[in-house]
Amino acid sequence: MQHLTILGSTGSVGVSTLDVVARNPQRFAVTALAARSRDDLLFEQCCRFKPEYAVLLETAAAGRLQKKLQDAGLSTMVLSGAEALEKIAALPAVTTVVAAIVGIAGLRPALAAARSGKKILLANKEALVTSGALFMAAVRDSGAELLPIDSEHNAIFQALPGMRDRTLADCGVRRILLTASGGPFRNLPAGQFARITPEEAIAHPNWVMGRKISVDSATMMNKGLEVIEAHWLFSAPPEVIEVVIHPQSVVHSLVEYCDGSVIAQLGNPDMRTPIAHALGYPERIASGADFLDLARVGNLSFESPDLERFPCLRIACDALRAGDSAVIALNAANEVAVAEFLDRRIGFADIPELIEKVVLATPVQSVSSLDDVERIDRKAREEAMAACAERCMPQTATGS
Ligand code: NAD
Ligand code: MG
Repeated sequence: MQHLTILGSTGSVGVSTLDVVARNPQRFAVTALAARSRDDLLFEQCCRFKPEYAVLLETAAAGRLQKKLQDAGLSTMVLSGAEALEKIAALPAVTTVVAAIVGIAGLRPALAAARSGKKILLANKEALVTSGALFMAAVRDSGAELLPIDSEHNAIFQALPGMRDRTLADCGVRRILLTASGGPFRNLPAGQFARITPEEAIAHPNWVMGRKISVDSATMMNKGLEVIEAHWLFSAPPEVIEVVIHPQSVVHSLVEYCDGSVIAQLGNPDMRTPIAHALGYPERIASGADFLDLARVGNLSFESPDLERFPCLRIACDALRAGDSAVIALNAANEVAVAEFLDRRIGFADIPELIEKVVLATPVQSVSSLDDVERIDRKAREEAMAACAERCMPQTATGS
């Protein structure tokens, strides 16, 4: 029996995880659930899964949840605040932590899980991207087990049987091919990017996801973050990782070997498949995802990414080569730019410009502690906010 903490249980990945858990009740018990502020959904999840702990970042929302649970006669203990997230990630009774908070907000709890030797299912790519060396060292030192549930990385993991403790070169790997759907603007002419609205950007053609990752997919920063994620997860040098556009999102990624073999993992685009793979690993369990009907899919197509229209992918790959401080600044500037775009304060085409400005303004510096990560992140956020303020769009028309 695995005992789970699910960080970000009310989000897209969190809800899919609970769906897989509910299909396999003999294997999993939920010890703790956590979210930012959605006490209504967290209450429903508590009624269904009866965790020992429920954490909400926001105190007022935690108070509302506590009252509802008491009224319902449930004994779940409600905690609030960022430290409580770390606490439930490191509880001795917990075997498995699903890291599905969005953004660098998930770093400390994910690291707490890594330091306490848990089996970690990682969706929260920003945590790994911003602290790769620290995170991987914590996993190694504690004997934690890190399993990717980002669909591309899960696919690569599945295509790399027996990789553990060996380098990619030892395994005869020549290239890692990350597939990308290309997002909703794959065929949109560059001249129309400035007019893209938040509603258009979050309408992904193949996946239903949280708002931030949906915008990241539309700018292709998501793929840039995933290149960096693959670098850390598989100790892959940047030149070994390539991105290929595959609009159907059926081939989730591929590994090419030195003998010319290419091994891919396929499936319908449904996050429950990689989640179930990692939850059950090394066994296979039911996920609830539909089985792939290749005749119905018909065609699978592939093309090269267009770095002119999607500069975020290039900026992310440049940052990876520039080093850890550039990557932390990249992530921070992206989080700020996406939030400002969703709030309609900057345009879609401003996102890459703003990120590149912040990355280039960040001095190269060594990163050897969590404090270093958080200091560089804070500074880059300030720079990004200042750059946003400079190009802010008028909010609403006043007067006539
Ligand atoms: P989402 O916005 O749907 O959910 C985010 C969750 O995190 C929510 O439960 C929210 O309450 C919680 N949260 C946000 N900020 C928090 C904070 N400061 N403290 C505590 N909880 C907080 O996002 P999502 O789409 O589920 O994505 C989650 C992560 O998984 C992201 O890093 C994303 O890149 C990654 N991911 C998502 C998908 C997908 O299909 N959605 C696929 C691959 C990777
Ligand atoms: Mg992905």
